[in-house]
Amino acid sequence: MKQLFAILFFLLLPGILFAQEIAITIDDAPRKDSKLFSGEERTAKLIENLQQAGVNDALFFVTTKNIDSLSSKRLEAYTAAGFHLANHSHSHLSINRVELDAYLADIDRAHEILTPFANFLPFFRHPFLHHGRPREVRNSVRSHIRILGYEIGYVTVDNYEWYMDALLQKAIADSKQVDYEKLKSIYVEVLWEGIQFYDEIAREQLGRSPKHVLLVHENDITALFIGDLVRHLRSHGWRIISPQEAYSDPIATTLPDVLFNGQGRVAAIARSKGQKPRDLIHISEDEAYLDKLFTERAVFQ
Ligand SMILES: [Zn+2]
Repeated sequence: MKQLFAILFFLLLPGILFAQEIAITIDDAPRKDSKLFSGEERTAKLIENLQQAGVNDALFFVTTKNIDSLSSKRLEAYTAAGFHLANHSHSHLSINRVELDAYLADIDRAHEILTPFANFLPFFRHPFLHHGRPREVRNSVRSHIRILGYEIGYVTVDNYEWYMDALLQKAIADSKQVDYEKLKSIYVEVLWEGIQFYDEIAREQLGRSPKHVLLVHENDITALFIGDLVRHLRSHGWRIISPQEAYSDPIATTLPDVLFNGQGRVAAIARSKGQKPRDLIHISEDEAYLDKLFTERAVFQ
């Protein structure tokens, strides 16, 4: 019997020691009602699916302009479920399109609104993942958030999940029939391919798989299928970790001096080592690619 346990232990050991890890972060909360879900329904669905999939923690990057008395309760529902909140600015400005002072004031405003919430964590995620250019502007943003006591809420896995949700919203607006099984398959498949793509780049550049940070949004498609994605990841040996644990990875303190930040930290590190931007963007981060895929699979009729 003991021998059997020993054999089992050594068989399972590589999986325990070398399991790839990923945390879930959800941007733009609290988003408005859609044609499919009210904000309250979406929040309930998201919490239910995360909990049923055994996800104990996720980090919601909040855009505070969208907070009113109703949506404030949704943020409280997330924290009551054990999830955390962080700063995604007040009005979701791009640093590439507004003056630096206006951008920094927008971060401060969100900071004041968010700090009274339970489970608030001092992380800032740049809207659109735009970090600013030229370098002086980018550095001014970085030093401002450091003064606030924040860290950058970077991602390691970028994707166009937001565009898949936009396709769903358009189909509903056009009164089309939605094949939700096909939609689920595409969601899981496209995000899984993106996760593997950035993990591959990480292993080439770092020589290891880091603690990953997945970017998704507080939208209907993620509310519907995040649990399915989590189960898929687990079936391939991946572990779901808390965002705080993910941000303890050494890449959290590796700030590559590049202006290519829109695809996340792993891609930025690869860029700093000379990789070409076109090799650091997954094929599915493209509207035409997804349009074609959705048409071929006949997701909407
Ligand atoms: Zn955003």
